[in-house]
Amino acid sequence: MRLEQLAAAAANFAAESPLNRVPSLGGLQIFDPPLMGVAAPDDPLFARLKEPAAIGPHHLSPHEWLPAAGAVVSYFLPFTAAVRHANRQPGLPAAEWLYGRFEGEMFNDALRRHLADLLAQAGHQALVPVLEPRFAVVERRSNWSERHVAHIAGLGTFSLNCSLITTRGAAGRLGSLVTSLALEPTPRPYTGTHEYCTNCGACIGRCPPAAIDGNGKRHQPCSDYLDAVKIRFQPRYGCGKCQTAVPCEDRIPGR
Ligand code: SF4
Ligand code: SF4
Repeated sequence: MRLEQLAAAAANFAAESPLNRVPSLGGLQIFDPPLMGVAAPDDPLFARLKEPAAIGPHHLSPHEWLPAAGAVVSYFLPFTAAVRHANRQPGLPAAEWLYGRFEGEMFNDALRRHLADLLAQAGHQALVPVLEPRFAVVERRSNWSERHVAHIAGLGTFSLNCSLITTRGAAGRLGSLVTSLALEPTPRPYTGTHEYCTNCGACIGRCPPAAIDGNGKRHQPCSDYLDAVKIRFQPRYGCGKCQTAVPCEDRIPGR
């Protein structure tokens, strides 16, 4: 099995799965087909994630998740234009965004499992870290960071507001799995960790609780705001104002 086959299977799943639609919003499609990349399990950047300045020693390497790891497959699911554009209004999150964030993550979990099943059917071991009982979040830092994994897999670079900017922008969700199948790593078309962010500052004024400034994002006010949104709209939650109506919404800014 090659990366192209996995990417095609993921695109088919996005097109056909009812979980990628919201009947109560007129059949709204949540995600476009994903971008996909591969990281080598022994990429030195995984070891650097264990440094306290990155994530910390609790972040597990691909081999710690799956001793026979041959590749890490990472993907970015871009929100459709309908979801993104609805959320361009200032203030409270749009209904489309709330469904995209909540029901969309159910679809994302289903896609993770679907890809792992395909690999297993082809005779390879496959494991989804974020769905494992060992998955844990310690002081807001998980032991498997989808954003950092995507960065290592060539999918994009970090932004002022701590999103990952990909060739399809920052508005979307990430997923990954570790497999024993050996795949060619995707070249990283960048050298810096924040190369795609222009520091234009457009996301600063979009943030309802003013959690972003020229130095980055303060996580506590963002988290507190998301908790308040959840109380109002539960079980749904989300915000995403810093990922919509900004130059990095659906592209690498300036390109
Ligand atoms: S809006 Fe501008 S400053 Fe904010 S993340 Fe996007 S490119 Fe960076
Ligand atoms: S998600 Fe919302 S609250 Fe959090 S940083 Fe982005 S705009 Fe601010």
